[in-house]
Amino acid sequence: MMSLPESSSRPYEECGVFGVWGVPDAAALTALGLHALQHRGQESAGIVSFDGNAFHQHKGLGLVGEVFADGDVMSALPGHVAIGHNRYATAGGTHVRNVQPLYADYAFGGLAVAHNGNLTNAKTLRQALVRRGCIFHSAMDTEVFVHLIAISLYNTVIDRLMDAAKQVKGAYSLITLTPDDGMIGLRDPLGVRPLVLGRMPGYEEDNGGWVLASETCALDIIDAEYVRDVEPGEIVVINADGVKSLKPFGDKGRRFCVFEYIYFARPDSILEGKSVYDARTQIGRELARESAIDADVIVPVPDSGVPSALGYAAESGIPFELGIIRNHYVGRTFIEPTDQIRNLGVRMKHSANRSVLEGRRVVLVDDSIVRGTTSRKIVDMVRAAGAKEVHMRITSPPTKHSCFYGIDTPEESKLLAAQHSLEDMRKAIGVDTLAFVSFDGLYQALGYSDRNDGGRNYCDACFSGEYPITLVDKMGKLVQ
Ligand code: SF4
Repeated sequence: MMSLPESSSRPYEECGVFGVWGVPDAAALTALGLHALQHRGQESAGIVSFDGNAFHQHKGLGLVGEVFADGDVMSALPGHVAIGHNRYATAGGTHVRNVQPLYADYAFGGLAVAHNGNLTNAKTLRQALVRRGCIFHSAMDTEVFVHLIAISLYNTVIDRLMDAAKQVKGAYSLITLTPDDGMIGLRDPLGVRPLVLGRMPGYEEDNGGWVLASETCALDIIDAEYVRDVEPGEIVVINADGVKSLKPFGDKGRRFCVFEYIYFARPDSILEGKSVYDARTQIGRELARESAIDADVIVPVPDSGVPSALGYAAESGIPFELGIIRNHYVGRTFIEPTDQIRNLGVRMKHSANRSVLEGRRVVLVDDSIVRGTTSRKIVDMVRAAGAKEVHMRITSPPTKHSCFYGIDTPEESKLLAAQHSLEDMRKAIGVDTLAFVSFDGLYQALGYSDRNDGGRNYCDACFSGEYPITLVDKMGKLVQ
């Protein structure tokens, strides 16, 4: 896992994965799917297709629309099956060799792998594999998977994949492409990272049209219908025989990442049967009930704060206004900027709408406070636009711990909530009042009675410090 740039103040999703089987122009549909998943990673994109005889690949740094803009590039990706990947990475990790999908030739022919998440024993396994003579070409956890599959002694690709999956620990969703077994999807045993199964109508006769994607918004863009979420620990094998489901891990429960609902996923996605938009709206309502304040306007910090602010406004009866305007045209140049430009980053992305803010008591609704630097800049900007009072309401509990499951967060010493009391945070951000949604309130918004009830179904380790998957590398343990 990469670390955030020093001054970055938001957690970033590491990746989005997409695959489609049994349709003409599979690569073009994959490019559209990746475009819908662009919010999960903006640094690089890649597609591998298979035409029945050979694999074809194209990968590059940049947004999907930049990497796959050229018609010649798309026509060099023929085939009825393709998988793709979006990646977020920092300056140090932005190398073409780290762009997925990863493709390798091994005993069973070719194998392409697109992976979202993080293995918590990747370092340990990697050391063991290197001692056995494996040569690594990238810094990605995905390559550990590929080597484990390549050296496995089992006789089929599926058995080798299961063998590899049983050796790794972590939170991941994986899509692989093989010449003989088709497209294979795999979700980690606790289902921390998302993966959904969909189908494009019109290809039923040939058993085609199957789609795997990180989120349902990637199904919508290609007119595919949502079939179901891939279950935690489930392997789905998709080929001319249809979809075969394998559950090599048995039932270990489920611990879906609760931060997907709060921040990462696109609001029009449905994950684990719940609308992300509805979840955010309900969290906003809960926050209004828990920490009401007299104010004139409810203002979201765009974009993820918008549905929650609508919920907060509806519950409180205070008008919702767009007091902060987001510039959607901040190009890639500014995603990995110089320090000087980075310091101006908030103003490049957000502008204060003076007509809404001047002389008003403002409630700002945001999803999280990580380092606090972005929050401080936004509050300063809102005050400079004439706000009389600024109150901050956060739709997650305080982020006190790092994520080791594929979401790129700073180390604990850099997290504002890990180091400061609520009152010190309030002062550091410069607001009149500051409140976070409670754990119970968060789970009530998701339809449970409290955290005891709901928390069993989710990972909330970055708030609670209760990590559901052993952090093997961090603990320095050896995996047998
Ligand atoms: S630690 Fe936080 S961000 Fe990471 S998987 Fe768990 S809930 Fe999601």
